[in-house]
This record gives sequence, C-alpha cells and structure tokens, in this order.
Amino acid sequence: MIIVLRPDATNEQVNHIIDKVTKLGLTPHVSKGTERTIIGVIGPEDILRVTPLEVYPGVERVIPVLAPYRLVSREFQKETSVIKVGKGVEVGGKKIVVMGGPCAIENFSTLTDIAMQVKAAGGTVLRGGAFKPRTSPYSFQGLGVEGLQILKKVGDEYGLATISEVMDTRDVETVASYVDILQIGARNMQNFNLLKEVGLTKRPVMLKRGPSSTVKEMLMSAEYILSGGNFNVILCERGIRTFEDSTRNTLDISAVPVAKQLSHLPIIVDPSHAAGKWGLVAPLSRAAIACGADGLIIEVHSHPEDALSDGAQSLLPENFASLIKELVILARTMGRDI
Ligand code: PEP
Ligand code: MN
Repeated sequence: MIIVLRPDATNEQVNHIIDKVTKLGLTPHVSKGTERTIIGVIGPEDILRVTPLEVYPGVERVIPVLAPYRLVSREFQKETSVIKVGKGVEVGGKKIVVMGGPCAIENFSTLTDIAMQVKAAGGTVLRGGAFKPRTSPYSFQGLGVEGLQILKKVGDEYGLATISEVMDTRDVETVASYVDILQIGARNMQNFNLLKEVGLTKRPVMLKRGPSSTVKEMLMSAEYILSGGNFNVILCERGIRTFEDSTRNTLDISAVPVAKQLSHLPIIVDPSHAAGKWGLVAPLSRAAIACGADGLIIEVHSHPEDALSDGAQSLLPENFASLIKELVILARTMGRDI
C-alpha cells in the first residue's frame, strides 16, 4: 500500500501516520520528496481495510498494491483453475465446455427430448432451472424439487453433467444433492449470505455476473465462495444492462479477457440471456470462443414457441447442433477442442 500525503502535510501529521502504521504491525518506508511525502507500507494490507488511513489528516490518497480479491487473483495462482464437474467434465482446460438445455425444467418428456439432442450435438452439461428468478410473480416459477429430480434422472440417463440455479440459502443443500453445478443467478451475484452458503459446500459453482456489476465486483463475489473453502468456481458473463435496447442485455465480451487477466478462475459466456433473441446466439457464441471463453451455456428448446420461459432466446436443437459443428472449427484455430 502506498500512502500519498498532501503537499501541505505537517511533520506532526506524517509522524502520526507512521506511528499508527507501526502500531498495526506494519512496516512504513518514508520517502520525502521536495513537493510531498510518500509512505510505502509493507505487511498484510487487510488490516488497513478495517482501519482506513484515508481519514487521517494530511493523507491525500491511499493506493492499494494487492487486489482485494486475493484468492481468485492471478497473483495468488498463475495457472487457470480446472474445475472438475463430474461425469468427466472439466471447465478451464483445453476442452471448451458447452452446456445446453431449457431455461426451465417443464416436464420429464420435454427435458428428455432436449437432453437427447444436446448430447447428440456434443453438449456435455444439461442446464435447466427448477427455482426460477422471474421478474413477474405471475410467471412460471419452476417445478422446485420435482424439477431437480427430473434433471438428475435425465442427466444420469444421458451421461450429462447438470446445472441448476439455487436462489435461497435454505435450498443449497437440497439443490447440491441433485446437481453437479450450483448456479448463482445474475440477480443473486451479491447475495452474500447465499455466496457464503455455497462456499461451505464442495460442489462446483457457476457465478453469473450481475446485470449492473463490474468484473471486479464479480471477482469479489467469487472471493466470498473461495474464502468459505470452495475453490470450484466458474465465472459467467451473461450481459450487462446498458442504454442499448436492441438486445436484452449487452454482452460485455471484454469481460472474458479482463477476468482472465485478473483471475485464475475459468469464465464461460451465456449468449442466450445476453441477446434475448435466438438469432443472435450464434454470432455471440463465436465471439465468446474467439475471445478465449472456457465454455458456453446456451438455452435450447425443442418447441420454443411453447416454452414456459425464454422461448424467444432458445435455440432449436438442430440450430444448437449446427452451431457446435461450426464452433469446433473455431476452437481448433484457438488451439482448443470442444
Ligand atoms: C438462467 O440462466 O436461468 C438465468 C435466469 O439467467 P440470469 O441469472 O443470467 O438472468
Ligand atoms: Mn432463461
């Protein structure tokens, strides 16, 4: 941490800060210039987050040297984490993971039909919401535990790993007992109690970026999960809210390389919730892979017109299959596989 003092800081103020820093068990290094004085502080910076030095008289600004998201940072771990999901699926390795499935689990036969086609197309993870965060309380809220039971049965039948959202701390144990990946939805990215709760499990967690959150805030949320003891975290860019209204959200494609520079956690992209329109899913998927994403999560439905949620952004299974075929070639040029 570097403390920059005001040009008019008095010797008394400087000594007061040095005294304070030393009493906290940190080592101050004072550099007196002609214009102003700078104090470099060596030691665990966390102490200074509790006792902010900005409030001391004579201090102009305090510049942290280490990122506040310590465990998720590239400084903490150089190599990208490879998250073992189950059913042979790993996220963050050479192989790009494609997750597909409906927005919501509707019934056994529809999910079976979709799963069969997701598998045949080369998808390895089956998505499906059982607890749905809907904007309107009158929209379909999901089948709850019955939906999770269907997801598990269908996933096992087709050898697909599964992912489903958990919205409530009280449901974490139940959802974790049915799925391979716990999904934290965009609206819950900063539900800190929920993050702490999934941090206590060992289940892989896919953390979606909040619609109005920065990449750094997403990393701070991931830090909650890692600091609870669960290092199995996958980040997900799903579009953010901007003034642009031709898409449901604006896919912040730069979040992929930015997150990769700052963190060792793998990051995947959800082009479906970013676009809100099925016709935009393919180009956004290409952009994601070209940008270095470790995977995609795509909504697929065999009858989008009858879907109980997000039909407009769901790909027909045949379009999902042709997209994956195309992405295999793109992945190869990126030195990766699908
Ligand atoms: C979802 O993936 O089912 C979902 C609700 O997405 P998001 O949380 O990104 O809106
Ligand atoms: Mn959806």
